[in-house]
Amino acid sequence: MRIDTQRKRLLFQAGFFTLFLLAPVFDLFRLDLNLKHFFFLGMHWTLGLDDFVAGEIDSTQAAINIVFRGVVPILGTIALGVWVSWKYGRLYCGWLCPHFSVVETINQLMRRTIGRQSLWDRHALPEENADGTVTKANPLNWLLLLPLVVAFAFVWAIALLTYLLPPDEIYGNLWNGTLTRNQSVFLGVGTLAFFVEFMFARHLFCRYACAVGLFQSIAWMGNRKAMVIGFNRRRVEECVDCNAACDNICPMRIKPRQIKRLMFTCTQCGQCADACTQVQANNPEGSLLKWVENECALDKSAREFGHHNDIPMHCHEQGKKK
Ligand code: SF4
Ligand code: SF4
Repeated sequence: MRIDTQRKRLLFQAGFFTLFLLAPVFDLFRLDLNLKHFFFLGMHWTLGLDDFVAGEIDSTQAAINIVFRGVVPILGTIALGVWVSWKYGRLYCGWLCPHFSVVETINQLMRRTIGRQSLWDRHALPEENADGTVTKANPLNWLLLLPLVVAFAFVWAIALLTYLLPPDEIYGNLWNGTLTRNQSVFLGVGTLAFFVEFMFARHLFCRYACAVGLFQSIAWMGNRKAMVIGFNRRRVEECVDCNAACDNICPMRIKPRQIKRLMFTCTQCGQCADACTQVQANNPEGSLLKWVENECALDKSAREFGHHNDIPMHCHEQGKKK
């Protein structure tokens, strides 16, 4: 059974993955190495310095161009990203990022193949899911998993190439079998590199190597009242009958009942809270995990500094977010 949040998230992820593939095709965003400038929303995005070199504009106009065509859009995008992350954490990762969509898809199939979401997990996950259904590992699923990982790797490599060279040229050459030597090498090496990454290090990349993820996490950690998955410690004994469904489902392989610092790489996917909702389906008090913010978030973020805040009573009441 999928919960509404996860259905919505799937739609966001599918939409953004499609945008990721089509943005270069429709010149919504790409760099053209032949022309040596970007395209944005179907327009040529240049700093307009060619006009300055040609003597058609003066230095003041050139400076204005640099500020409004370069500095403002870039700093504006960064500022927006920092603000969203400061307030809501790694929403981009959990709800949009095309890499994280791949991570989750492979994790799920990996579990159906070897009983673990990652090759690096030490122990097999319980077969019973949060909603009571059972997922048994079947090694035959390698026959599906390996081609899927190769397909993802190839799609990523070709998408990346179309962000650098004209997409009609790349797809045309691919269709007609006339890729240049360099294009073939790029696709071959790219597919191999993505295969290795998707197969062995996908969530580790999200955790330790992705600069976009790291900056979001750092901004989030700077705000102790930021939205976070909160845990109702008052009801901790109710976890005894559960097989740690929240830990088992986490695609980043972190434990959502811990303090915020240990959830540094949380992607706000909400799967842990939804798993707990399913586990506690017959409990009138509902899930022990839910998104909280403001003073309710301090229980997670301030505890690591030795402050043992009492969780305000209203924080975990059903249906309330703060
Ligand atoms: S928080 Fe919910 S899902 Fe996690 S162990 Fe406790 S009861 Fe289970
Ligand atoms: S802790 Fe919960 S919200 Fe964060 S990544 Fe894991 S499952 Fe998603």
